[in-house]
Amino acid sequence: MRVVIKVGTSTLTHKTGNLNIRHIESLCRVLSDLKNAGHEVVLVSSGAIGMGVGKLSLKERPQDMPTKQAAAAVGQCELMYTYDKLFAEYNHTVAQILLTGEDMNHADRYENFRNTLHRLLELGALPIINENDTVSTAEIAVGDNDTLGAIVAKGAEADLLVLLTDIDGLYTADPRKDPDAKLVSVVSEITPELLATAGGKGSALGTGGMATKLSAAKLCLEAGISTVIANGDDPEKLYDIIEGKSVGTIFKK
Ligand code: GLU
Repeated sequence: MRVVIKVGTSTLTHKTGNLNIRHIESLCRVLSDLKNAGHEVVLVSSGAIGMGVGKLSLKERPQDMPTKQAAAAVGQCELMYTYDKLFAEYNHTVAQILLTGEDMNHADRYENFRNTLHRLLELGALPIINENDTVSTAEIAVGDNDTLGAIVAKGAEADLLVLLTDIDGLYTADPRKDPDAKLVSVVSEITPELLATAGGKGSALGTGGMATKLSAAKLCLEAGISTVIANGDDPEKLYDIIEGKSVGTIFKK
């Protein structure tokens, strides 16, 4: 199976912006094992800005563009250093790809990206993709990594997109506010009503929320790719997801 896994800042870092060692170690071990079992894995990883906040000891996620971009420059380095170290323990080779929305809308650049991605998979490497935050401004950015995950899943012609986050899946209401909220296991159509219930931003250090996840799932559904939203606190669940067991919310036709 060719699977694109997107992991959010809320999974990779603590609220301080420092690395969540337990989560990232477990994630790298499970992804290495999936590759050993013959699956092709592409990782879309957030966390550059969040980790930059931790590394630079900033008090909160910056709002102004130069500080955000500076934090991303520091954090992306730390992020790839950490992935390289952890995947090397299991003898896997990582490759960094940084993209902007403009790259994806530019036919030649998109084609180059796709060619490189497919060649990396043929070579057995593990592509790790993020937005190129140090040069991306609002005008040219993809904007959030859920959408980037969907674009990558389409470009990779993946079988599955998995969005790992800090919530178990899609709920009938916001479970942080409504105790009666129920987890929705299967969604076969993303209607405007469903999009309207999705609410706003998720965590303080990341960018996405349920709305960006639903629109990512919609993009994938249109391309015939299923999407799973699951909690990133236990990356071992990826084994069940790959085996088609019910975890979190699956969007499929
Ligand atoms: N590219 C951003 C980062 O690495 C994250 C974007 C997102 O959370 O969706 O910090």
